[in-house]
Amino acid sequence: MVLPVKESAESTKVICIVCPKGCILEGRRDERGVTIQNGCPRGQEYAYRELQNPCRIVTTTIAVRNAALKRLPVRTSLPFPKRRIPELIDFLHTLSVEAPVRVGTVLMENLLGEPGVHLVATRTIERKSPSRETERQT
Ligand code: SF4
Repeated sequence: MVLPVKESAESTKVICIVCPKGCILEGRRDERGVTIQNGCPRGQEYAYRELQNPCRIVTTTIAVRNAALKRLPVRTSLPFPKRRIPELIDFLHTLSVEAPVRVGTVLMENLLGEPGVHLVATRTIERKSPSRETERQT
């Protein structure tokens, strides 16, 4: 992951946190595109991606039906484009799944058309036991 630290019209400095060394990389924009200076190939790849299309892992919860808990923790399997995260959150608010759900289950593939970015359950939630349902009804 790369954090932007300073921006100007022509250049952007980023701190690379791919490894503990924490190099400062500089991306320069010109008519030909983005050029990354400093850093190793892994850091340059991350910096390039960060400047072209910054992405983040999204963690949140969605509604779950017929479970003791009302919300299921989920995350994206890969980083999701940052500019589309509000759209993703709005979409996830409309979503609900039926218990039981196992941790690691892929609940939806290619979220909002982003190839390879799936929605994954990060907790196991059992179905609400019938005895509890009976208790609540009485
Ligand atoms: S540029 Fe390479 S060496 Fe420097 S922090 Fe990033 S991954 Fe580590």
